Amino acid sequence: MDLLKQRILDEGRTVGEEIIKVDSFLNHQIDAELFREIGKEFHRLFDSKKITKLLTIEASGIAIATVAALEFGVPVVFAKKTQSRNLDKDIYTSQVFSFTKQITYDVMVSKRYLTKDDHVVILDDFLANGKAALGLIDIVRQAGATIEGVGIVIEKGFQPGGKLLRDQGIRVESLAIVDRIKDGKINFMN
Ligand code: 5GP
Repeated sequence: MDLLKQRILDEGRTVGEEIIKVDSFLNHQIDAELFREIGKEFHRLFDSKKITKLLTIEASGIAIATVAALEFGVPVVFAKKTQSRNLDKDIYTSQVFSFTKQITYDVMVSKRYLTKDDHVVILDDFLANGKAALGLIDIVRQAGATIEGVGIVIEKGFQPGGKLLRDQGIRVESLAIVDRIKDGKINFMN
């Protein structure tokens, strides 16, 4: 997606050779027009009448999935990272190791919002080692629902997540795949 790649080149900042910061349009300030294009692209890639739900993870995934959901015409469910008194007791849980925070946390989805009849597309902002996506896949499987694919805004192709998921036969569609970061410069694979 050229529009997205240009924004990454223009505004992306790098931390070392592994982390990309795109706070000016994706992770802190949000460019809603760009999100609309992202949503349309995910819909084009996963155009299936079978899809009944988009699943993501708080916080950055929520806005992406919500805008995409306007195209798909299905609800968004976001996995919560913190237990709270108003979360249903009947939940699916999976453990995720956070690449950015370097801690393990639980992700939770109420059984009320994911059932065996659902056909799910998982959406997220970044794909690094695949832990967040695998946690969500685990939850979809616990529900007995069907995974239709994983949609990622920025995949870091030099990290193992994409291969891990594709090797499991999961369809992964990434709008921008970063090949490498060298001397603060970002190179794309796709
Ligand atoms: P994974 O679970 O695939 O290792 O990492 C994906 C998650 O970590 C994403 O949900 C994203 O929030 C965060 N993440 C991983 N790499 C980056 C990065 O380079 N930049 C930003 N902003 N977030 C990242």
